[in-house]
Amino acid sequence: MDLDFSEDEIRRYSRHILLGEVGGVGQANLKAARVLVVGAGGLGSPLMLYLAAAGIGTIGVVDDDLVELSNLQRQVAHTTARIGTPKVESAAIAASAINPGVRIEPHALRLNADNALSLIECYDLVCDGTDNFATRFLVADACVLARRTLVSAAVLRFEGQLSVFKPHAGGPCYRCLYAEAPPEGTVPTCSEAGVLGAVTGVMGTLQATEVLKEILGIGESLAGRLLIWDALASRFRTVQLRRDPHCAVCGPEATIKDLSAHRDVTAPACAV
Ligand SMILES: [Zn+2]
Repeated sequence: MDLDFSEDEIRRYSRHILLGEVGGVGQANLKAARVLVVGAGGLGSPLMLYLAAAGIGTIGVVDDDLVELSNLQRQVAHTTARIGTPKVESAAIAASAINPGVRIEPHALRLNADNALSLIECYDLVCDGTDNFATRFLVADACVLARRTLVSAAVLRFEGQLSVFKPHAGGPCYRCLYAEAPPEGTVPTCSEAGVLGAVTGVMGTLQATEVLKEILGIGESLAGRLLIWDALASRFRTVQLRRDPHCAVCGPEATIKDLSAHRDVTAPACAV
């Protein structure tokens, strides 16, 4: 473990290092970590900014969209001046401005059956902040196949959900929770039903907190639990999730052994 921090790093991360649960060793673990953020939108924005601020050594970000005016109500990594810029570039500028010491790896592409696994295998942990089921299932299946922990958040209107999936360490996967994607058009997206901008900020920040907890190995993991926040009622609740013994991807008789089933699915790759 390389504990060789510069004086600037010690000052930058002093409020972390002061925490007994983090300390110098924990901060070195954050520096050594490689985290992939899928979607540089409403969830990905606060997520990336906090991961960069926290000193995650390498942050990959995948998104093939350009910054649009309608994004700026919630996607706080982007700016009015960067409308028309690729979101991964804009998010990289914002994250680097907070912490030039972290390495940002922008991937301006749409995840698909052919590239998802090889990209996910380059990272230790994956965060999903996308707005469509096709990409969610693709990322979730790829994480099971690559044995990567997935920290998954979702928002709609005034509600947010968050969980951690790591069946390789016990607990359910995303498909244990939702066996199949609902038919297209049956569940509205944020672009159809709207979302209160600050709700994405809260959920993206909670997602960042869970990423840091997983890397530091502290606290109680959200694996096996789903956190649900109702912003209108100002109420958080947690429900237990069970592993599906017949799960098609993480069960003992799994039928999904690769991502080929995702090949026919065309996903709108927009982030929340
Ligand atoms: Zn499963």
